[in-house]
Amino acid sequence: MPVDLPAVSAPDEPLDVAPAPPALFSVPRDALRRMCVELGYGSHHADLLRKRVLHGRDPALPPRLAAGLASRVRAATMHVLRVDTTDDGARKHLLALHDGETIEAVRLPGTAHASACLSTQVGCAMACRFCASGLLGVRRQLAAHELLEQVVLLRRDGPVARLVLMGTGEPTQNLRAVGEALLVLRDEGGIGPRHVLLSTVGPPAAIERVGELGLRLTLALSLHALDRDLRGALVPTQVHVEPRDLLDAADRHAELTGRPYQVEWVLLGGQNDSPAQAADLAVALRGRRAHVSAIAWNAVEDMPFARPASGVAEAFVGTLRAAGISAALRRSVGGASSAACGQLRIAHRRDG
Ligand code: SF4
Repeated sequence: MPVDLPAVSAPDEPLDVAPAPPALFSVPRDALRRMCVELGYGSHHADLLRKRVLHGRDPALPPRLAAGLASRVRAATMHVLRVDTTDDGARKHLLALHDGETIEAVRLPGTAHASACLSTQVGCAMACRFCASGLLGVRRQLAAHELLEQVVLLRRDGPVARLVLMGTGEPTQNLRAVGEALLVLRDEGGIGPRHVLLSTVGPPAAIERVGELGLRLTLALSLHALDRDLRGALVPTQVHVEPRDLLDAADRHAELTGRPYQVEWVLLGGQNDSPAQAADLAVALRGRRAHVSAIAWNAVEDMPFARPASGVAEAFVGTLRAAGISAALRRSVGGASSAACGQLRIAHRRDG
């Protein structure tokens, strides 16, 4: 929605530029309804506007109402800097925020439905040793409207029916905004909690807090190792967390929601990809409602890790399956260049 800035003052007067109007999805629904009424239109236009924008459609407002609202709210506070389309059809968007920060959001094609993979923070404080996003630390939280705007922008590329909170950031560290955005998407955006996958590295208390949202979403536990020391080396902010306690917390979440959970395992060559580690994981998961989602690590410049040797990732998953554990080897979405989460953003910062 365009914003008309006031005319520039005479050269010897101080510049008096009106502050930009608030973001559409930061304005409470009732306040937006009141704006429509004040402008001489029915309050239902507010609901239609929100719904249409959320679904990536043209707002289709009466022209006078659109003009009146343009000075009061703005539909977008971010814009697309760059889009990379990968061989597998993923569309990786580098987005510029209003304060000059950048984030990534990806539209992932699916066999039946496409997903939106969103960032929940600018950067990430969890500092996983193998992750590009952890390199820069966390710079700020994203507001709920910034989560919603990512969905809106990705829907310009086509329908999105699922949400994956697996981009940059640890969603449980920004749970208020995440919860707010999920409610809006459930009520107005056509994506219910059943179609949301929320990824976390823990600790167990964070998983409890996800349960307190009261939303029946699916949890993805970023485990990567069962041995506490090894996991602490890979995810240093979780050095005091016992990995089996995380599995117990995920079990409780599954019981609460009735939804099985995913165990995420980034396979790092020679670190956590051995047949013995796969066998230990199979034992630890026996009787739990867990599905293992393994992925071979994407090389990140200057990081002391390697991709698993050829055939090792398949053998790891094969060991789990042979032991009766549901497991899949995910293709690395995005292939070689700029593939791991955060790499596009970091490349942009380096170039800039
Ligand atoms: S893997 Fe996830 S939790 Fe870990 S640093 Fe990267 S974005 Fe943060």
